[in-house]
Amino acid sequence: MSDILTGGCLCGDLRWKAHAAPRYMGLCYCADCRKASGSGFIPFMGFDASALAISGRWTVHTLLHADGRAAVRNSCVICGGLVFGGKLGADETLNIYAGSLDDIAQFKPTVALFTRDAPDWVAIPGGLRRFETMPR
Ligand SMILES: [Zn+2]
Repeated sequence: MSDILTGGCLCGDLRWKAHAAPRYMGLCYCADCRKASGSGFIPFMGFDASALAISGRWTVHTLLHADGRAAVRNSCVICGGLVFGGKLGADETLNIYAGSLDDIAQFKPTVALFTRDAPDWVAIPGGLRRFETMPR
């Protein structure tokens, strides 16, 4: 199967490739994503774990949400770049942080999550389906 999407961290040690399209693409404005990224939001692409191949070395950061669910984020050991979310080998769906795409034009978000937490200085693009929190 050919890879249709590829990406990686800033230094290139942590790389990923996908042989199937993501199930969803969006922007998350929650406070956790803001703090984890040091930015106003995180652009994400949700893939079936079986569609992804991830290589390199990464640090696993596991933190609990306010509701008790564990959030797992993974960053490059060398450059610190935040590349994917979820527990490799355990979760059925993994989120790739879209800023890591080699061809950033391939990112086509359709949803905005946790818009209630978006700071005033962050624009939410028009045309996205908006959710105040996480859609059920
Ligand atoms: Zn790196």
